[in-house]
Amino acid sequence: MESRVCVLGAGVIGLSAAVNVQLLIPGVDITILADEFEAETTSDGAAGHFGITKERTNSDINNLIRWARDSFEWYHRICISEDANIAGIHRFHGYQLWRSAKPTPFHSKFDYAYRKLSVRELKQLPGNHTYGWASETLMVECRRYLPWLMNKFREKGGKIVCQRLRNINEIEQFYDVIVNCTGLRSRNLFQDKEIVPVRGHTIRVKAPWIKSFYIADDGDTYIYPGQDNVVLGGTRQRGEERLEKDQRYYDDIMRRCCNLVPSLKHAEIERTWVGLRPWRSGGVRLEVETIPVRGRPVPVVHNYGHGSDGVCLSWGCGVHAACLVKQQLNQQNAHQKLSKL
Ligand SMILES: Cc1cc2nc3c(=O)[nH]c(=O)nc-3n(C[C@H](O)[C@H](O)[C@H](O)COP(=O)(O)OP(=O)(O)OC[C@H]3O[C@@H](n4cnc5c(N)ncnc54)[C@H](O)[C@@H]3O)c2cc1C
Repeated sequence: MESRVCVLGAGVIGLSAAVNVQLLIPGVDITILADEFEAETTSDGAAGHFGITKERTNSDINNLIRWARDSFEWYHRICISEDANIAGIHRFHGYQLWRSAKPTPFHSKFDYAYRKLSVRELKQLPGNHTYGWASETLMVECRRYLPWLMNKFREKGGKIVCQRLRNINEIEQFYDVIVNCTGLRSRNLFQDKEIVPVRGHTIRVKAPWIKSFYIADDGDTYIYPGQDNVVLGGTRQRGEERLEKDQRYYDDIMRRCCNLVPSLKHAEIERTWVGLRPWRSGGVRLEVETIPVRGRPVPVVHNYGHGSDGVCLSWGCGVHAACLVKQQLNQQNAHQKLSKL
């Protein structure tokens, strides 16, 4: 019989896992179950800068390198293909500026180019900073990338169920393996006390003259030029989960970004956004747990808790999650064969 897999979640983590399962297990019967899609997800609002930080994600270093490297290679392949524009992926150059010397950043392992700025270059840049890096990396804009991935999933016969699960037993069908990509809401659905929201605010402005990215104030102020607009940020408020928009935060972001690049005061504001990063004290959870679902034990491949770096890690984590799904299905098939002997 055909194996049946259900992926919970249609953010960048769920879609990447689902497409990877299709690539690794051709002919698999696969469904994505979620209550929010595309613009309703946290992933849609992510800035999309490929500037992974090991400090923020808090995961095992070897796993982080593997996930980030697989993701970067995937995004790079799209970036040099005819799909780059429609998938929302482009290569860009920019500056990270500091008040004091810093150790080589983790993201330099993946950047196309990375170097320390000279005193002369620092003088030419805004903000009187005394230390900085120039780097070249990728920008992945989920407003384009999520629909592009969803098309890939549908083209390969993937099914969609729109449903809000209050409890895992509300899943209507029987599945051989479930992949849990519910992000922050794994806290209630799978009773994970380690997961904490880190609230972030951004502003999208029209400023087509901004061609480079800028990061300052210990990474808290950022300016990322995208294809349709420029993302200005940000905030990192641990434990805060109210999603009401508070103008004070947007005024403060605008003030910091204009200090860094004064021409931004002429930019027209397109939209403001607030979202919750799914941060987990024990790091990203990517492992199998067997739990009872409507009275039957079902392997659940957890894939959540990507904090500030879900876009950077999504494809690599999807590759890893798909391998775990295949292992589980192989074990079930071997077990069925044995029981028939
Ligand atoms: C301001 C800000 C800026 C960011 N910038 C970047 C960046 O530059 N680079 C980067 O890599 N990352 C960035 N991130 C982080 C990134 O957004 C997240 O790590 C990522 O979106 C997490 O993806 P996800 O798929 O796990 O979650 P989500 O996008 O939240 O998707 C969760 C999915 O699960 C479904 N779901 C959950 N619970 C249930 C349920 N009970 N029943 C049914 N469906 C359910 C939802 O419907 C949804 O489809 C940023 C985040 C914020 C807030």
